[in-house]
This record gives sequence, C-alpha cells and structure tokens, in this order.
Amino acid sequence: MVGRKWFFALVVVLGLAVSAPQAMAKQDILFGGAAITGVYYQVALQISNMMNKHASDKYNYIGRPTGGSVFNINAIDRGAFDFAVAQSDRNWQGFNGAADWEGKPLAGLRSVFSMHPETVMLVTNKAAGIKTVADLKGKRVNIGNPGSGQRGNAEDVLRIYGLDFNKDFSSEALQQAEASRALVDQKIDAFFYTVGNPSAAIEEPAQSVDLDMIPLNSDALKAFVAEHPYYIMTSIPAGTYKGIDKDVETYAVTATVITNEAVAEEVVYDMVKTVFENLDELKGSHAAFRVLDPKEMLQGLSAPLHPGAEKYYKEKGWM
Ligand code: GLU
Repeated sequence: MVGRKWFFALVVVLGLAVSAPQAMAKQDILFGGAAITGVYYQVALQISNMMNKHASDKYNYIGRPTGGSVFNINAIDRGAFDFAVAQSDRNWQGFNGAADWEGKPLAGLRSVFSMHPETVMLVTNKAAGIKTVADLKGKRVNIGNPGSGQRGNAEDVLRIYGLDFNKDFSSEALQQAEASRALVDQKIDAFFYTVGNPSAAIEEPAQSVDLDMIPLNSDALKAFVAEHPYYIMTSIPAGTYKGIDKDVETYAVTATVITNEAVAEEVVYDMVKTVFENLDELKGSHAAFRVLDPKEMLQGLSAPLHPGAEKYYKEKGWM
C-alpha cells in the first residue's frame, strides 16, 4: 500500500512540475477602474473577463477598484497598472501638464481607445430644495475625493457659477460609494459625479429617496465647453433614473482606456484585438456600453495612441 501511495505522490509532483512552467508563463495584467458603484470598475472587470476568457493562455487580467481618473493616471505613470480608465479631460491635462499636473507633464501616458460618454452631474436630495447651482449656498455638498475625475469638474462648474466651495457651502471630499450613502442618510444635500449612465451610484439612492438633477447649462458654462475640444453639451434623457422625469441638460466627457508607453506592444495589441473582435460581448455586459461604436472609439483620444493599438487600427484600415 505504501508503495502505491508514493507512486501517486510522485505522479502528482511530476504533474505539477510539468504544468508549472505553463502557469508561470501567464502574465498578470492590472486594470484600474474606479468606485465599485461607478462604470469604470465595470470597464476594468468586463474587459478583464473577456481577456481571461479569450486569451487565458497568455494573460491573467485583474480589475481593481480605485479612487478614479486622477489616481489612475498617476498609477499608470508609475507603472503600477498596465491599463486604467480616465476621463478624456484629465488625460489631456496629464499629458500636457495642466491642472493636477501643472508643470509636470506625464510624457509616457498613452491612449488605447475611447469608451462610453460620461456626464457631469449635480445630483440632489429633493428634500433639500435645490433648484439651481446658486441654491447650493449654505448646503452640504460632496465635490469628490481628490483622486477622482469629478472633483475637477465640480471645481470648474462652481467657479463658472461664481461659488467658492471653501466659503459658500460645506464641502465634502467623499469617495462616490460613500457619497451616495450620505445623500440617502441626509448627511449631504447634493453630490457632483461625472459618470456613464446608468450608474449604480445614482440608481441605488434613487430607490430610497427622491432625487433631483440640476441642469448645468448657463451661458458661461456653454462658453467654457465650447473652448475645450474634449467637452460637449448633451442631456441625460428623462427616465434614466427613477424620479427624474425631465431631460437634464449638462456637458459630457469621454471615458478613455489608457496605458503607459512602457507597456509591451504585444500586450496592448492583444487586448485591443480581443476587445474589437468581441465588441458585442462588451456592449452586452453593461447598459452604459451599448452605445460603443468602433469609429467613435478612435475619437476623442487626448494622449498619443500606444503603438500596440495603432498596429491593430492600421491592420483594420481604420487609420
Ligand atoms: N469619472 C469618474 C472619475 O474619473 C469615475 C466614474 C466611474 O467610475 O464610472 O473618477
């Protein structure tokens, strides 16, 4: 009996030894999303699922929740992530050394493709009686955590509407999942969030309290949008969120998948090819992705294309 046991043990050990090199050859790829109730995390998760299904022989993709665009751009710059999602405006600022990166351009930042549009939204608890941006005076408002993309948008909107978040109201810097909860618990009266629609971060509080959404469409704001190539005016259709039964005019940015020039051409090429060859799978994985269209996914990229992405687009005759 003992002899047989040793024989089986030997078979197991040899089996492991044979399969080990194959397992080790898989490359771990980290993909940064944002808050778990947002849409970026879905981008990171769904693309990771696709890669782990279609390219499991080469890669092991891991989607991570993060603090948002600014956090992601810095993590890509440091090489902590292979891919991440970031707003097109933040991506432009990072590459060109503006706003959070004033005087420190991140020359290694590269674009891969555009994803869904994201709208800049001011969501309120109806009970707070806020009808315009000016009504935020004296209220409690979340303007976003410092690593998020929405914080910069909130700062722009407030400046354009002539409000000072240090003086005119009590401002919070909560992560979005906490902000949604705080709105329900009436610890805040409103939050700014820049996100694809629909987002669970708004759907969930809409189940518990009456929400409102304030238009961001003053003439000064429209002039600001017209000055920046990565912004467009748009509206969120009535009925997108429970209780918000009118179209809400505001402006939008594009969510962009980004990487670093140091990431191998083959890694980026394989991801891009898998995404475009299975685009219906990605479109079906979240309501915000239904609008994805290959032609538009090559538009609005505010850092240079990574060569691995460019190689695929050239092969397809798209550029
Ligand atoms: N636009 C947000 C940001 O840049 C994230 C939105 C989302 O998670 O979908 O931080």
